[in-house]
Amino acid sequence: MTMPHRLFDTLHEFDLGDGRTGQFYSLPALEKAGLGPISRLPVSIRLVLESVLRNCDGQRVQEENVRALAAWQPTAPRTAEIPFVVARIVLQDFTGVPLLVDLAAMRSAVARLGRNPKLIEPLVPVDLVVDHSVQVDVAGSADAFARNLDLEFHRNRERYQFLKWGMQAFGTFKVVPPGIGIIHQVNLEYLAKGVLASGCQISNLKSEIFYPDTLVGTDSHTTMINGLGIVGWGVGGIEAEAGMLGQPVYFLTPDVVGVHITGSLREGVTATDVALTVTQMLRRAKVVGKFVEFFGPGAAAMPVVDRAMIANMAPEYGATMGFFPIDEECVHYLRATGRAPDQCRLYENYYRAQGLWGIPQQGQVDYSQVLELELGTVVPSVAGPKRPQDRIELPNLRREFFQAFQRPVTENGFGKTRQDFSRAIPVEMATGRKAWIGTGSVLIAAITSCTNTSNPSVMIAAGLLARKAVERGLKVNPAVKASLAPGSRVVSDYLKKTGLQKYLNKLRFNLVGYGCTTCIGNSGPLDPALEEAVVKHDLVTASVLSGNRNFEARVHQSIKANFLMSPPLVVAFALAGRVDIDLSCEPLGTAKDGSPVFLADLWPTLAEIRDTLQSALKPEIFRKLYRDFASQNPKWNEIPARTGDAYAWDADSTYIQEPPFFGSFSMEPGTIAEIGGARALGIFGDSVTTDHISPAGAIQQSSPAGQYLLEHGVAFEEFNSYGSRRGNDRVMTRGTFANVRIKNLMLGGEEGGHTLLQPEGTRMSIYDAAMEYQRRGTPLVVIAGQEYGTGSSRDWAAKGTSLLGVKAVIAQSFERIHRSNLVGMGVLPLQFQDGATAGTLNLDGTEIYEVLGLGPTLKPQQDLTLRITRRNGAAIDVPVRCRIDTPIEIDYYRHGGILPFVLRQLVAKA
Ligand code: SF4
Repeated sequence: MTMPHRLFDTLHEFDLGDGRTGQFYSLPALEKAGLGPISRLPVSIRLVLESVLRNCDGQRVQEENVRALAAWQPTAPRTAEIPFVVARIVLQDFTGVPLLVDLAAMRSAVARLGRNPKLIEPLVPVDLVVDHSVQVDVAGSADAFARNLDLEFHRNRERYQFLKWGMQAFGTFKVVPPGIGIIHQVNLEYLAKGVLASGCQISNLKSEIFYPDTLVGTDSHTTMINGLGIVGWGVGGIEAEAGMLGQPVYFLTPDVVGVHITGSLREGVTATDVALTVTQMLRRAKVVGKFVEFFGPGAAAMPVVDRAMIANMAPEYGATMGFFPIDEECVHYLRATGRAPDQCRLYENYYRAQGLWGIPQQGQVDYSQVLELELGTVVPSVAGPKRPQDRIELPNLRREFFQAFQRPVTENGFGKTRQDFSRAIPVEMATGRKAWIGTGSVLIAAITSCTNTSNPSVMIAAGLLARKAVERGLKVNPAVKASLAPGSRVVSDYLKKTGLQKYLNKLRFNLVGYGCTTCIGNSGPLDPALEEAVVKHDLVTASVLSGNRNFEARVHQSIKANFLMSPPLVVAFALAGRVDIDLSCEPLGTAKDGSPVFLADLWPTLAEIRDTLQSALKPEIFRKLYRDFASQNPKWNEIPARTGDAYAWDADSTYIQEPPFFGSFSMEPGTIAEIGGARALGIFGDSVTTDHISPAGAIQQSSPAGQYLLEHGVAFEEFNSYGSRRGNDRVMTRGTFANVRIKNLMLGGEEGGHTLLQPEGTRMSIYDAAMEYQRRGTPLVVIAGQEYGTGSSRDWAAKGTSLLGVKAVIAQSFERIHRSNLVGMGVLPLQFQDGATAGTLNLDGTEIYEVLGLGPTLKPQQDLTLRITRRNGAAIDVPVRCRIDTPIEIDYYRHGGILPFVLRQLVAKA
């Protein structure tokens, strides 16, 4: 039981609403203490400030941190990092399994030191939702859900066994099993509490301190929860592990862009249209790395599910968060989703006591910049064909698609000619059905993604549109693979209760699973004859989906044009069977009486949607479906779980292996020393993504990872993806820099994960070269251009780099999270100065590299020297900046990374 601090006399009491009082760290009291005009700060900043104040212990968080954030200025230069201790962590299974592997490895290391493995225990609650593994192998049939679930369990049994071990080994680690829902929707509907409490001791009496629900998640769309007034965003696995073990998550003090929302939506416009409009608008406003906060009367009138949808797109518009402050709508949502009345009362009382109740109106808060959004201007839209920010007004889709078709590939087009456009290929599918496909044919129509499935209004709209279409006798084109994958079972409950699911089924939008499916690229195979025709004729076909990302090859490797849209529009385009259509004036089908049917004939009114919703959504359903969900999945229960505090590693497993991070762990940290005699493992250009460094998708048979799996008796059909094998460092290290699209300039920009072993210049895979260098005791560096490590946060991109033996990455610039992940894995990020690049320095990979000036007194952002010795013996000294940015990162680096640092602290404290 901890004794709380009384810094600035801010520990106050508030009314819990049940006759009792609780303790809290009061922001109004902090303002009274003279730390700044706190009541004028953006609400999101105030919530972070509460955490900084409450966790101020003079070690992890200093009084100076409180003062600095309390005095946040809307437009000051941003140099200070904020130590943010979060209340809880959420994980999805692709990123969560490797994180649990690291915790298990830490326990094994502690056991080897002769200590109690239970020393390693998450200090904050951790919830892992298994949602990323289900694939749409089967679609358009009544048994699709059951068969996809069977296949999922067959493929992932070892991983799920391991998760079950984690559930029994760690007291604070919970798992939402497969078949229940999608992480962010489950978080919104069930996991989020709004206000949390922890025990403390005040004047010898046991008490409780209440505090805002805050979190980080190992998934970029963690921001969905910002729609419920909860601060949270996606981080890499390494940062999440540190957060789990009580370390703050560090981030640069942000600008906060206010979006003043006014007006209301017009008939025929959905919340998805608003989300796509906001995405386009904020991308243009360059909000990368900033908080966005929505306010004004339009925001206040928006239901939480609409807010959550806009918040969920924050990664697409580039913001750290898309935050909506707290008000009556939030507590209304908590009640409507079955949260206990006591919790709802506590929630309201807490935020009222903090002065945080209500969506701010114009002039009440000082933002770095204010943008305007009038909801009445939003029109039905889609986004694509390649980027979520490329919004297209619905009537313009036909024209825009045609233009994209002929635009050069370098300008987000397809580089085709007018003649290619009119192709129509007859195809006889495996089912015996026949179809004609050509340019613009829709081959996948997916109601998918937590973004949309968490919002009943757009799901009901899809069902109502399906009903009207079926009543008119319309059918979905046979070439379309249609699917419905909601983010929670609540959706199925209301679609069944309203009788709408049966109409969706008639259009082949049968339930395929409760998981990410098409949104994450798990769209499953196309009919082989269709796929063959697409590849053979190089057709630009389309997918339509209610997802949030549409980069080429993400949805399906053979489908080039991918359009994001609302669920009712997904159904409409499935009926039309093509995207080169103007649905505002062209019919999408022919009724059984022979008359043309237009979108306007099928589109439900706002009143129809509202009336249907009211009869279907009840709090009891949420309570029922989220009660004992673990026991509601027999397949999960059938999986045997290992027991024990330390994991009994299975040497034969190809999914779960003990990583070597703590193999020779001792309590002594290393020292910081110069790097000498290093060779370049690769020289890369600009915008190398984390997916280039550590791919998530298919494992090539001929790749080092593929060869490893074959040698271990895994048939090619059972390879699964890199994403699902992140619990096995042997696969992942072999997969590092193995993306088929990565271009190593040492090989003249040839694609694929190869390099030249120096000094002999032998061409080989990057993995084989790295292993040979390790045998020779040669340290490695990687050279890169601008924005190294851009894309989703992926801890294996740093882990794999470290395990290959790379000591430093020297780039022109780094993506924020990947830079911190490199430091977190003990890899030195160095930044070229004065416009130097691999090109200006004429580097070809035959050089020897030394990093000079590195030593025990290293300071954040210190200037160092990179000495480059060419093959002919000529040496040049190049200035580089050490991108270890904060004092705590120096400690991480000294310890060989964040995990050894935390482990030493935990063992020393025990
Ligand atoms: S459904 Fe899509 S947005 Fe939601 S968690 Fe899955 S992949 Fe992310």
